[in-house]
Amino acid sequence: MDFFFVSDHLALDFAATLTWRTTHPIDLLAEPTDLAAWATQAGLTDHPGRVSRAALDRARQVREAIYRTAVAAERGADAAVADVRLIRECARGPQVVVALKSLGEVERRGGVDEVLATVATRAGELFGGDDRHLVRVCAGAECTRLFLDRSRAGNRRWCDKLACGSRANAAAYRRRKSGALASGSAQAGPYDT
Ligand SMILES: [Zn+2]
Repeated sequence: MDFFFVSDHLALDFAATLTWRTTHPIDLLAEPTDLAAWATQAGLTDHPGRVSRAALDRARQVREAIYRTAVAAERGADAAVADVRLIRECARGPQVVVALKSLGEVERRGGVDEVLATVATRAGELFGGDDRHLVRVCAGAECTRLFLDRSRAGNRRWCDKLACGSRANAAAYRRRKSGALASGSAQAGPYDT
């Protein structure tokens, strides 16, 4: 499986591994091997090793704590104490080690525990700092991805312009078109607008 990394933050990309949360949720971390694949694609570790079912369950719990805390940040609300505690505890473990191998090449070492600790650390930095004010929810219909709005004008609306932005534009175009037809300019054929 190819995972998306469009949030401009590792912790938010991790939260996005549960998609379409409010309509038809799909957990992209369905199997332990999915978590290993995510960790590798996220560039966190070269060899995540074998992931146990228990580790996957824990990863999902941390992911949901991150998601809820991000939503709280986006709304300017308080984070749940239990979520903060989980993110904090998880971050205390050993982290992924990134070591220079040669010019242009690094080695990233760590199993799933180290990967989770690193994600939780990054989440802690985000939620504990000023960037928490940049957390946004994608404006795409049904899309529940979160991202950081680092645009200069502070007007980023989409998790991904291609995935959600162009789809929304196409829908708006269809609405305008059908609206024009429905409002019944009698002379206008479907291709005349
Ligand atoms: Zn989106």
